[in-house]
Amino acid sequence: MTDDCVFCRIIDGEIPARTVYEDDDVLAFLDANPLARGHTLVIPKNHHERVSDLPAADRDAVFETLGRLTSAVEAAVDADGVTVGMNDGDAAGQEVPHVHGHLVPRFDGDGGGAVHSIVRTLPELSDEELDAIAADIGDSAE
Ligand code: 5GP
Ligand code: ZN
Repeated sequence: MTDDCVFCRIIDGEIPARTVYEDDDVLAFLDANPLARGHTLVIPKNHHERVSDLPAADRDAVFETLGRLTSAVEAAVDADGVTVGMNDGDAAGQEVPHVHGHLVPRFDGDGGGAVHSIVRTLPELSDEELDAIAADIGDSAE
């Protein structure tokens, strides 16, 4: 629990939320400013800011819940698809510094874009740069 974290205060019951699922490790509730009917957030009950900060148990619980709730959210609002996303870090647009996954129901013809629409200027990368990046990520993942 972090006093100045809005999501910790929701977990603590200080701020009301429309809970859709809860267990020992995670809480899922409707987003207060929904991008679509049924826009749902999934958060770990332990306060961690970034995805990479999550201990394995919290990480697994969050992603397991995101996976399971995707079909529940889609069915509940009769959506045609779901955008599953996380803004991880300031540069990615994260506003609440408590890890959360978004489930945004999508409807045929809703006018929204794919994940690809978050970037306007695509990088130009040579084969050598792509090889180096792939190797660096592989090294960091070990
Ligand atoms: P972010 O930009 O950090 O990925 O998204 C934060 C999300 O949290 C936003 O979609 C915002 O509407 C939602 N949010 C912020 N404060 C509250 C709140 O007090 N209650 C609920 N239910 N959602 C919130
Ligand atoms: Zn928090």
